[in-house]
Amino acid sequence: MSSIHFLCKQCEARLGRDAGEVSRPCDFCGAANDVAAPPPGSIIDTCAACGHEELYFQKDFNRATGIALVVLGAIFVPWTWLPLIGVTILDYIVWRVVKEVVVCYKCQAVHRGYAWAEKVKPFDLVIHDRHVYGAAPPGAEEGHHD
Ligand SMILES: [Zn+2]
Ligand SMILES: [Zn+2]
Repeated sequence: MSSIHFLCKQCEARLGRDAGEVSRPCDFCGAANDVAAPPPGSIIDTCAACGHEELYFQKDFNRATGIALVVLGAIFVPWTWLPLIGVTILDYIVWRVVKEVVVCYKCQAVHRGYAWAEKVKPFDLVIHDRHVYGAAPPGAEEGHHD
């Protein structure tokens, strides 16, 4: 299921919309917004919540996944005589189970269950700082490594 999660501009509540749902006002304060999840199969290249073009992807470590991993660990540990093999198997499962999400640098909207355009890269602290502080802080200019 593809979906988008974003923050209400007025009350900052976390709102979720599944693909196929139409936009609707904030579930908590009623503030209007026109955010809707893109259709399944869309390639994400701009933020569906605010239209911003700088996005990054990261592993989606949500609560449900965390619980699933604890359960998996409990299953694996008792009969794993060679802990290293157990950890390797667990690592592999984590890699397969945990999907990646696309996040907006500007509004932190999370796009889940989509592919993303090639320009979307892993999280970059310099780009993040530029959004938080405005200009890049001294010594952290992009493209200057001397
Ligand atoms: Zn609200
Ligand atoms: Zn955004």
